[in-house]
Amino acid sequence: MIPSYPLNVTDLLSRLPVQKVTPRWLNESKVALYMLRLDLTDASVSGNKWFKLAKNIIDAQSAGHQQLLSFGGAYSNHIFSFSSACAEAGLSSVAVIRGEELSADSNPMLKAVKGLGTTLIFVDREAYRRKYEQDRLTYYRSQVGEFCLIPEGGSNQAGVSGAEAIGELVMNQATEFDHVMLACGTGATLAGVVRGISGYDNAPMVHGFSSFGMRSVAAGTGWLTKEVEQFLEEGQSEGRSSRGFQLHADASLPGYGRLSQELMHFGAEFLEDTGVLLDPVYTLKLMAFVQRWCQQDCLESQKVLCIHTGGLHGWLGYLDEESGGDMPAQLLGTIKQRLLSL
Ligand SMILES: *Cc1c(COP(=O)(O)O)cnc(C)c1O
Repeated sequence: MIPSYPLNVTDLLSRLPVQKVTPRWLNESKVALYMLRLDLTDASVSGNKWFKLAKNIIDAQSAGHQQLLSFGGAYSNHIFSFSSACAEAGLSSVAVIRGEELSADSNPMLKAVKGLGTTLIFVDREAYRRKYEQDRLTYYRSQVGEFCLIPEGGSNQAGVSGAEAIGELVMNQATEFDHVMLACGTGATLAGVVRGISGYDNAPMVHGFSSFGMRSVAAGTGWLTKEVEQFLEEGQSEGRSSRGFQLHADASLPGYGRLSQELMHFGAEFLEDTGVLLDPVYTLKLMAFVQRWCQQDCLESQKVLCIHTGGLHGWLGYLDEESGGDMPAQLLGTIKQRLLSL
């Protein structure tokens, strides 16, 4: 179910637990590790996308829009959530997908999105890069008529405002945390969390883990750093001040959307130790990074809350390729079971 906005934090607190986790690699470390289970929001409008879409959908409806248009890659978590949310809200939806060689039959994710009633427009990489430019908008309009544009990832100020509720969730737990860790794509969720905890005393430091490597977080020049600062700056007019956050990346992990044998093994062990299934694109790498930090004693004797931002249907992209065959059996079994219930 898509939530109504403003989000009811009391209701969310009862539905989205914070779980203490003790993966085997925590053994030697004095860190107390917890996970906020946003993967339990909803099977189809998943995790942080649920929060980012909440206000976007309400805003579009109250402005009288009947059709929404958004953007994503062939396995985009956002597009899957966007299509589900629009279907549920009774809105028409259009998805502009990167890859002109693709069709609705290319993969299970696109098939599902088509099945939800979404109109798909496939564009080449160059057109996708210029997706917000005037001539491109005119082109979409010529194909599908008028629409309300929701940017890639649902990442606009409405999305950031929706994600503020995640910060409220963090601050309203029985446990007081020293650090909060989450994985970043566009950085909108991070900005929302930072804004959501601002104004509280004893707010934890927020750490964003970039899925796009070291260059995205380079001091002064990293695009992700700039993006988050921009989200926070624009929000200042709403009377919120921003607080500390840090961005990180890990050069030893494979690039965006890639998995290694080692990472799959790590995910299988994490599942076995904690019962929590991580997603392949964001939270799996976040936890691999947290493991490194724990082993290097960067977080000694502290209470650390990792945010599970959902995205489990991302596994759809890893089942029919070679990677599916190499996957540890228990991990593969759990993934299949979860995906069937979507
Ligand atoms: C989309 C997504 C993110 C990235 O969120 P941003 O707001 O774009 O930074 C993180 N985790 C998961 C599981 C996602 O699906």
